Amino acid sequence: MATSTRTDRSNLVPFSSRLKEGKALAQDVWSIFAAANLPADCINLGQGYMNFAPPKWVTKAAEEALNSVAPNHYSHPRGRIRLREAIKAFYGPQLNRDLDVESEILVTSGANEGQYSVFTAFLEQGDEVIMFEPFFDQYLPSVTFNGGKPVYVPLHPPKDSKLKSSSNEWAIDFDELRRAITPRTKMIIVNTPHNPVGKVFTKQELEGIASIAEEFNLLVMSDEVYDCLVFDGKEHVRIANLPGMWDRTVTVCSAGKAFAATGWRIGWLIAPAYIIQPTLAASTRIVFCSNSPLQEAAATGLEQAKERKFFETQLAEYAERRQILCDAFDQLGLKYTMPEGSYFILLDISKVKFPDDYPFPQSVLGRGRDFRACWFIAVEVGVSSIPVSEFYCEEHANIGEAYARFAFCKDVDTLKAAVERLYRLKDYIEA
Ligand code: GLN
Repeated sequence: MATSTRTDRSNLVPFSSRLKEGKALAQDVWSIFAAANLPADCINLGQGYMNFAPPKWVTKAAEEALNSVAPNHYSHPRGRIRLREAIKAFYGPQLNRDLDVESEILVTSGANEGQYSVFTAFLEQGDEVIMFEPFFDQYLPSVTFNGGKPVYVPLHPPKDSKLKSSSNEWAIDFDELRRAITPRTKMIIVNTPHNPVGKVFTKQELEGIASIAEEFNLLVMSDEVYDCLVFDGKEHVRIANLPGMWDRTVTVCSAGKAFAATGWRIGWLIAPAYIIQPTLAASTRIVFCSNSPLQEAAATGLEQAKERKFFETQLAEYAERRQILCDAFDQLGLKYTMPEGSYFILLDISKVKFPDDYPFPQSVLGRGRDFRACWFIAVEVGVSSIPVSEFYCEEHANIGEAYARFAFCKDVDTLKAAVERLYRLKDYIEA
């Protein structure tokens, strides 16, 4: 056959229009700033994963599970009973209830799949889901793939011009939140501690959200995957604990963040039976069940954490890591947000200058200024970060363009090396 006369056959079977919404077709920020695309010696403070292993006693439990029979096979779609028992024992006291392992806990393939299954279970075509901007990027396609319509409510950045502001200064305007509600509003996503801001929502803020959820009968998806990373003695308040809120809240947790195991893809949902049951129905038909041996390991993590004072020690280590980056930003005289939780710091990069004709790859051209700034910093200075406009809808991307997100889930030596390099930013700061 003469190939020259062949017509383009790449669109013989068109892909679903579903992918045209929720920015699903735009290259995701994690792939653009993946280590493989950057200079080999670039220090990765971009995607939030650790450059250290999970604790030995947890990986040992994973090995033991791999070396036995049952944990190498399908688990119950609800999750392995040992993990569900461990979740009950660990979270029950925090939620002030005797959790039912058969109906109120669901183990999922990472927090993402858990949240996706909640959307599948609860959204009708056109139902609106409120999310605070900036928002973790995965929420958006998870909502639109399930027929939902995202509605954005901003967290307003601190207004004053001081160098160091607290993540707590990123504020909700409750009138604005109220105005975002329509008869189609079905859900609201809360994320505390917040990615990428590091904000730990106060009890008062959560009470404000709770009263709106009650008034308009909303399901609350509370993404609390960074719950073990709340600094400075600040309290992590679970919205499910506020009066009446257990009844309408699904709390989302993650073994990846808790035990430095982001690739394990083990998370869990905690909610009343009537929220877990339909979510289980969806999850069973999406993944059937989650990674079995690593559920055993996560169970060990939760079972032994208290006795080993694991979360206390880990938190102190993260506080030290946070300080290393903050000290550097102080020295540089660049504005940043001091996170009260999570492992991210937002650096204001609006004063970082770079040549317009710098050899940028196609992947960052046509995106926000922050994409180019982060690329420039990664290549010239040798430290990668994540452009924050990715966490905004297109109309509001300009707000995010002012920031780069630096992750400090790295060992101290790596952070110190990164900081030495970041001092070179001095040459590019506009007076
Ligand atoms: N939650 C991590 C982050 O925000 C990773 C996200 C991802 O790779 N999808 O960095």
